[in-house]
Amino acid sequence: MEDNCIFCKIIKGDIPSTAVYEDDDVKAILDVNPAAEGHVIVIPKEHAENVFSISDEALMKTICVAKRVAAALKKAYNCDGVNIIQNNGEAAGQTVFHLHIHVIPRYEGDTVNVGWKPGDKPENMEEIAAKIKADI
Ligand code: 5GP
Ligand code: ZN
Repeated sequence: MEDNCIFCKIIKGDIPSTAVYEDDDVKAILDVNPAAEGHVIVIPKEHAENVFSISDEALMKTICVAKRVAAALKKAYNCDGVNIIQNNGEAAGQTVFHLHIHVIPRYEGDTVNVGWKPGDKPENMEEIAAKIKADI
């Protein structure tokens, strides 16, 4: 529990939220500024800033709840697809520094923007892979 963390306060109940799911380890709430109706954020109760510090156990529990939320959104909204997104660091769009997973219903032709412009195929893919592999 971090004193100045919005999501810790939401988990504790000090800041109100609209929950769709809660168990001993995870809480899922409606995003207050949704990308689309039904946008849910899934939050581990254990405070960790992002993917660089979360425990494997807490992360696994959180993604499993995100999976259940995705299925529920598909059923409730009959959406065409669902994005599961998780931002780490300001440069990656993280604004609340308590790890969370977004689950967003998607429809053919909607205006939600979570994409990127595909780059050209790199010529040095083996070199790139080697650089990453060394640190996994
Ligand atoms: P991030 O940009 O860090 O990946 O996502 C943070 C998300 O938390 C945003 O989509 C934002 O709308 C949501 N959010 C921020 N403050 C609150 C809050 O007090 N209540 C709820 N329900 N969502 C919040
Ligand atoms: Zn927190």
